[in-house]
This record gives sequence, structure tokens and C-alpha cells, in this order.
Amino acid sequence: MIALLSLWRYFSFNREALQSCGDDILRHNARSLMIISIVTVLLLLLFGGVSVVLERSQDKALVVAGAGALEFAVFLYISRLCGQKKYAKRRVYAALGCYFVFLLGFGICLSVFFTPEYYGVNFIVFLICSQVVFVLNPPLILLLNAAAVSVFACLGAPVKPPQIWRSDLVNAAIAALIGMALSWYMSRSLIKVMITSRRFEQERNRFREESIRDELTGLSNRRDYLNAVNFYISVCHHVHQTVCAVMMDVDYFKNYNDYYGHQKGDAVLKSIGDVLRRLSSEEHAFTARVGGEEFIVLWTENRIAEAERVALKLRQMIIDLQIPHEKSAAAPHITASFGLYIQRGGSADTAEDLYRNADSALYMAKKNGRNCIMCINSEDKTAKMVQILPPHENIGRQGGRSLV
Ligand code: GH3
Ligand code: MG
Ligand code: MG
Repeated sequence: MIALLSLWRYFSFNREALQSCGDDILRHNARSLMIISIVTVLLLLLFGGVSVVLERSQDKALVVAGAGALEFAVFLYISRLCGQKKYAKRRVYAALGCYFVFLLGFGICLSVFFTPEYYGVNFIVFLICSQVVFVLNPPLILLLNAAAVSVFACLGAPVKPPQIWRSDLVNAAIAALIGMALSWYMSRSLIKVMITSRRFEQERNRFREESIRDELTGLSNRRDYLNAVNFYISVCHHVHQTVCAVMMDVDYFKNYNDYYGHQKGDAVLKSIGDVLRRLSSEEHAFTARVGGEEFIVLWTENRIAEAERVALKLRQMIIDLQIPHEKSAAAPHITASFGLYIQRGGSADTAEDLYRNADSALYMAKKNGRNCIMCINSEDKTAKMVQILPPHENIGRQGGRSLV
């Protein structure tokens, strides 16, 4: 019967689902063992108390309390093993095995000479708690239950009258069955809850991730940009580091769409997204798409020449794409205009100030013929055009740090 129940239990669980929530099960096991150990101690205290009050037997109470303390320590130890990050199954099995041997030996002695109730209670507690631990390994439960009942039978047989021994055997089998049914029910509903909450968590993470990503380019979107810029500004304010922001807008993009079609326009935006991702990893910068064909780059750099170098590099990377654009008055290929804002460390500028200044620098770049970079410095607020160097002078990087 026990074997059949174990097999049924074994096949009725979805093994992959079980493995996918292994950590949660271990955490649950650790918690359950703690609860079981506390309940055991309370039960034993009750037995000890009853023995003292009703039978006036202090020895009995002492033995029961001693055994209870030992049991508590074992459960606590196993519970700690289960809760450990790197869960060592073998150590848990070994600890439970030792406890099993102790329980049988100690329990048989007590049941013959001393306190049969103690043995019965312990036996049930042990069966239940061992099954909580072995939720992940049903065949082991089968073995454990079979071993428990047979060892009980073998050890009890020589020292007990046949009727008592037989009724003990029946009790043990009933305890095993109750323990198994309880454990089956508990773990099944527990695993359902775990799988559902795991799914919810995965969905929540996906929504969170999607809510900060721009679908077309895969870059961060405006919402993520707002979080990042506030983070950059507050940290840089404290450590007196300069925040650099480049606002970039593709030149004559409406003409491009009108001439080449919206789909080709989308492909251009994707290529620009790739360029920005590359820049982001090479220069440790944060990049986001903040509007239709508008992008922003954030990074930290105290040297103005270095900040300008990054802006120049980005401009060159866009040119290097060499995407033909016949309807652009700036160049025969896709280009962009850039507004660089250098916000000095310790400046009282907010995220809105940063955005407004980078945007006005960009506006000036558009007015100055496009495909160029205008720079505004937070110290004097004057705008100047960044000198365009030949491409070979724009490579290499001497410094710069990123916050994200
Ligand atoms: P300027 O040089 O002054 O920036 O001129 P522009 O044509 O680029 O600027 P304008 O603001 O007039 O046009 C922006 C165009 O960007 C209009 C719109 O068709 C296009 N656009 C915005 N979002 C998308 C998008 O997701 N996909 C595509 N293909 N086009 C977009
Ligand atoms: Mg625009
Ligand atoms: Mg534009």
C-alpha cells in the first residue's frame, strides 16, 4: 500500500516544475522543519509535564526533556542545512539517517521500559518531517517508510508480547500512511502555489523590462532615461563629477520617410540604435531613444576635450553607416545634429535643466547647418560649435567613467 502510494505520488508530480522551483522548496523545507522542531518540543514538554503531575515521575520527565532537546538540536541543524544556499542533500540525508537510528534505538528502549507514548509521538513526527524534507525525492520516501516499518517490526518482535508488537506494527503503518498522505497533499498544493507565484514573478519582470525598453531599437525609452538622468545628476552632484549629455536628432528624417518609405525609416532607426549600443559599451554611456528620431546619451567626464571627443565619435559613427539619403540638404547620406551639454559637478541644475540645455544646443546645431555639434557648458552657458576633426583623430579614449 505504502509502495503504491509512493509510486503514485512520484508520477503525479511534474518533475520539471519541481526542479524549477527547487530553491523555493528548500526554503519551505527549512521553515517547515523549524516549525516541526518547535511543535515536537512543545509536545515533549507536555508529556514531561503530564508525567510529573500525574505519575510524580521526575526521571521520566527528565528523559523526555533530554530527548526533546536533542531532537530540537537535530531538527535545527537539518533545517539550517536545508536553508543553506548551496544545499548539500547528502548531509541532510546523513543527519536524518543518524536521527532515524537514534530514534529507533532510543524509542524502542523507552517503549519497552519506560514511555510508550513518547515513542509513538516521535515516530509519527519523524515520518512526517522526513517526508517534508524529501519532497524532491519521492523514491527515497518509499524506502524510508518501508525501512521504518520493518525496523520497527524487527526490533520490537523479540522484546514484546505478540499482540502488542502486532498492534505497534499496525500503528507504525498507519503513521506512515498518514504522514505520506499529509506530505503528498501539502507538497502538491505548495508546489502549485510556488509555480503560480514564479509565473507571476516572471510576467512582472517581463512587464517591467518592456516598460523601460523602446520596442523598435531595443534601447532604453524615455521613462528609463528619466530614472537614469536623475540618478546621474544626484550621484555626480555629491561627488563633484561632470555629467555630459548629447541630444541627437536625425537630419531631414521626414524627407527620408517620404522618399524611401516608413519601413526603410524604421530600419535606419534600428541601425542608429545599434550604433548607440556600441557607443554605450565602448564609452560606458547610457543611451536612450527619447522621441521619434531623437536620442540621448549620458555619461560622466570631467575633461571637456574628452566629452567633445565622445560627441564627435558618435557623429562619425552615424556618418560611417553611409546610409544613402538623397533628400537631405546636409549630406548625401544619413546624418544627425547634436546638442552637447556639459553639466559641471556641484551645479544646481536639475534633470529638466539638463534636457532643456541639451535641446537648445541641438536647436542651434540645426540652425547652424545640421550634421554638426553645438556645446553648452553649465558654467558660462555660452554655446560654441565643436570643431570637427578628421576621423582618424577622433579615435581612442583616455578616461571617463560610467555610473550605470
Ligand atoms: P530636422 O532635420 O529638422 O530634424 O528635420 P526632420 O524631418 O528630421 O524633423 P521632423 O521633426 O520634421 O520630422 C521627424 C520625422 O521623424 C517625422 C516622422 O515621420 C519621423 N519619425 C518619427 N518616429 C518615427 C518612427 O518610429 N519610424 C519612422 N520610420 N519615422 C519616424
Ligand atoms: Mg525631431
Ligand atoms: Mg530630425
